[in-house]
Amino acid sequence: MAEILILGGGIAGISAAGHATKAGREAVIFEAAERWGGLLDNFTVKGYRFDRAVHFAFSNNEPFQRVLDSIDCHIHYPEPYNYERGRWLKHPVQNNLYPLPAEEKVEAILSFMDRPSRKEDANYREWLEQQFGTVIAERYPCRYTEKYWTVSPEKMSTDWIGNRLYRPSLKEVLYGAMTDETPSTYYLPKMLYPKQGGFRSILEKLARGVDIRTGKKAVSIDPQKKYIDFADGSREYYDLLVSSVPLPELVAMIKGVPQAVKEAAAGLWATSIALVSLGFRVPRAGKHLWFYIYDRDILPARVHAPYRKSPDNAPPGCSSLQFETYFSRIKPLPLEGEELVEHVINTVGKLGLAEKKDIVACDYRVLPYGNVVFDRDMVERRHCALKYIGESGILSVGRFGEWDYLWSDQCFLSGRRVLDHLAVL
Ligand SMILES: Cc1cc2nc3c(=O)[nH]c(=O)nc-3n(C[C@H](O)[C@H](O)[C@H](O)COP(=O)(O)OP(=O)(O)OC[C@H]3O[C@@H](n4cnc5c(N)ncnc54)[C@H](O)[C@@H]3O)c2cc1C
Repeated sequence: MAEILILGGGIAGISAAGHATKAGREAVIFEAAERWGGLLDNFTVKGYRFDRAVHFAFSNNEPFQRVLDSIDCHIHYPEPYNYERGRWLKHPVQNNLYPLPAEEKVEAILSFMDRPSRKEDANYREWLEQQFGTVIAERYPCRYTEKYWTVSPEKMSTDWIGNRLYRPSLKEVLYGAMTDETPSTYYLPKMLYPKQGGFRSILEKLARGVDIRTGKKAVSIDPQKKYIDFADGSREYYDLLVSSVPLPELVAMIKGVPQAVKEAAAGLWATSIALVSLGFRVPRAGKHLWFYIYDRDILPARVHAPYRKSPDNAPPGCSSLQFETYFSRIKPLPLEGEELVEHVINTVGKLGLAEKKDIVACDYRVLPYGNVVFDRDMVERRHCALKYIGESGILSVGRFGEWDYLWSDQCFLSGRRVLDHLAVL
């Protein structure tokens, strides 16, 4: 019997447990995997440490900022790049067209000046065209959407955008077409990364004193009788259930769910990520901390350099790169396993990042949940599922529990919501 039973040992679950424990309550986390950490876990191959995809810390919320303040971090001022057909453009492309040939710049600028007028209820493609003009929209963010979100932009809503995409003025577009000495317009002014231990070290700090049981995959929940059955045959009773399990899986686990809720939850879908991680025996693979790839014939959408996040991520004098290829139930991976690794190694050569002969460590793995996809009916379906979960007395937290595009600091706050529910215990 657990007073507060928490499913999932990622940052949302750990935050919930930490906050409940500090409030004097008994909280236990049950984590399906053999190691806790979720998306913030990492792995090491021949002395090269890799996070689960690119991760930096940033926050504008006070409680999480306090956690970051207590950790010794490198500060990074974002300068991402974009790769397209042999050219490297500063990010974001729309106000950094400088490397393009003159006629392509003119075409892009004319189209920017002739942007379609704003339309209520625009889908993501229409929104992109309204912001950047059809030429830039089609050539860059629309193409990237198909790689990163695995779906055509007209099928997506704009609910998730927030301040993530920079909307330049004509003056900024013109300026960025004439010089590469443009100011950074990335939506974050600076980002932090722990000097030691990878991104997971932030989580290790939060997990101190928290009771986490690993290898405990929940398979069925009875919210009336308040118990959970686990894959190992055990059963646990609870007073309050907090779950960071992906929402569609959570709904599928609950006994007696109405058909309409089942269907709404089953319609929610997310991207998955195939990660190829490479260690090099030379000091400087690639030139950038991270970059995006637009070419359709190159499968990864994003690449980052773990050794640039912190030298502690690679052996002395060595370097590392990690490639993210996105897929989903509507866009399967064209190449898997060794075939994808070979494709990535060829990409290393094609983009001039390093030499194949210097690769000394290699890892392939799949993250089943990457980004929740905001297709046009998603918000409605999510509302239906979350309403039912709430009525069942379950607090659903975290990126996949809330089914939202949340950063780790937001998941920390999401787990903290447990404090609002302690009074009823
Ligand atoms: C590509 C990518 C890049 C990102 N970059 C950044 C970044 O730079 N900065 C940033 O702040 N955030 C970033 N994020 C977001 C961040 O990783 C997440 O917001 C955060 O880690 C999610 O934490 P969580 O606890 O909600 O979910 P998870 O970390 O997914 O934890 C959920 C846990 O539940 C467990 N679980 C699932 N099913 C069961 C079950 N049936 N029983 C028991 N346990 C179960 C899982 O094993 C998992 O450990 C990024 C995310 C991605 C995908």
